[in-house]
Amino acid sequence: MKRRDFIKHAGLLSVASHIPISRASIHDIQALSLEGNEIVLKKTDILEFMSSFQGSVITKEHYDYDMARLVWNGVWDKRPALIVFCESSSDIQKAINFSREQNLITAVRAGGHSISGKSTCDGGIIIDLSRMRKTSVDLQRKIVTVEPGCTLYDMDSKTLPHGYVVPAGVVSHTGVAGLTLGGGIGSLMRMYGLTIDNLISVDIITADGVMRKASKDENPDLFWGIRGGGGNFGIVTSFEYNLRPLPNGKVIVGVNLYDLKYAKEIWDFYYDYSEDLSSDIMLNAGMWNVTQGEGYFFLGTLFLGDENKADKALKTIRNFGKPLSDDVSKKDFIEHQQVADKRNAHYRNYYVKGRHIDEYDPKLTENLMDGWMGVEGRFDTMRVVRFGGAIAEVAENETAWVGRNAKWDIEVGGHWSDREKNEEYTQWGRDYWKNLTPYCAERIYINELMDEDQDFVATSYGQNYGRLVEIKNKYDPKNLFRLNGNIKPSI
Ligand SMILES: Cc1cc2nc3c(=O)[nH]c(=O)nc-3n(C[C@H](O)[C@H](O)[C@H](O)COP(=O)(O)OP(=O)(O)OC[C@H]3O[C@@H](n4cnc5c(N)ncnc54)[C@H](O)[C@@H]3O)c2cc1C
Repeated sequence: MKRRDFIKHAGLLSVASHIPISRASIHDIQALSLEGNEIVLKKTDILEFMSSFQGSVITKEHYDYDMARLVWNGVWDKRPALIVFCESSSDIQKAINFSREQNLITAVRAGGHSISGKSTCDGGIIIDLSRMRKTSVDLQRKIVTVEPGCTLYDMDSKTLPHGYVVPAGVVSHTGVAGLTLGGGIGSLMRMYGLTIDNLISVDIITADGVMRKASKDENPDLFWGIRGGGGNFGIVTSFEYNLRPLPNGKVIVGVNLYDLKYAKEIWDFYYDYSEDLSSDIMLNAGMWNVTQGEGYFFLGTLFLGDENKADKALKTIRNFGKPLSDDVSKKDFIEHQQVADKRNAHYRNYYVKGRHIDEYDPKLTENLMDGWMGVEGRFDTMRVVRFGGAIAEVAENETAWVGRNAKWDIEVGGHWSDREKNEEYTQWGRDYWKNLTPYCAERIYINELMDEDQDFVATSYGQNYGRLVEIKNKYDPKNLFRLNGNIKPSI
């Protein structure tokens, strides 16, 4: 879908889904329980729920149903029984209570960018937060408060004009909520830490429908768990972050593009050079296939140190090899944050997956390159980012997020428009990854989860998993919030 069409589409969606469904059209609805059994949602129960719910309720009969159920990754073409668009915390609370009382399979959707489709479901309810998009900046306390439906752009556009930023992701239409709860990696993290490292507190409604505050002082166990444990414990209705300086909202940033035929040499340089990188530099490397047999290698650089020292600090990177182009310069960060938006457009079909890399083995690159140009060039985007810096300064057990000492993170994926190809390309993606995983850590950034099973989630959380289970037992013992990198309760 073109951007213009998307904007038009999003506009239509927001108008159409505001049109209230007529109460007369409500009837008993077939649905699926948490355990996957067929259940019936009774008309009287739905009407009672709707009578105090401020937002919109969309059923399969609503003419906007097919738009309302879309999520970023078109592969997840699911048909929920109900989609409820919340307007307030109180709406979220009512939706949680309704879901729990009906024992209904429950998806929570903020930005809708879950790559593995965790924010939609068949036969259940989607609790949608996209209408709750307020942010407020307190310059005196240097904090920003963000509602859960905000995108990164919503937050950046409020903070950057004041010369402040919250370190987050790299595509501006990603949801702040899901990104934060999974950890939040991005181009500022080596200097300012993960998004969760800048989180002061959240307001959260847990599975029992109780509104709670979680911070270092209030419900500290919950605060520990939500920093990396995803949406396992409840729905966050408000996030409060520390602001970090980004004077004039500008950074030195850009990309060196190379001919793909030099890929092997550039990978060698990248892993070698980035191993001892100073924490005020972020260096990414990656490849794009543009058309079959044609592509580019890129080195993406961002510098957050003293501007006068940038030339010297970036000399080795910028003098490396023979770039086809080099656009590293001082730029508005908000514009830079939108550079990758179109390449990651909504509603196409994607297979994307990642892993941490603890130590580099050149066989990873060999296997990566072997399959790279296959399947009509559809496996077309990949990048490696350097972790370390401020991320590694936080202890592994200080938050639920794991992998503080991983050196890099690799993500490889592809997209296609033709739905008929879903199975073929997804299988190709899985086979491709089989050859990479022996050279990666047995651990994933939970927001890059794709088709890994529950055992892998547990393995991935490593030493933090036991504590996460205890918190899950306390706040969501029936596993109402199971569409995520799931922490299985043990009671
Ligand atoms: C194009 C693209 C770019 C990305 N770039 C980055 C990046 O640079 N850095 C990075 O760290 N990640 C990145 N990601 C991964 C991203 O962090 C996850 O997909 C994240 O889950 C997106 O959040 P969302 O709110 O849009 O997702 P949603 O699909 O709405 O939700 C994802 C998960 O979070 C849960 N959830 C959402 N909101 C809440 C809430 N308020 N309370 C409780 N649970 C909630 C959902 O139930 C679901 O399990 C990217 C993903 C995409 C598709």
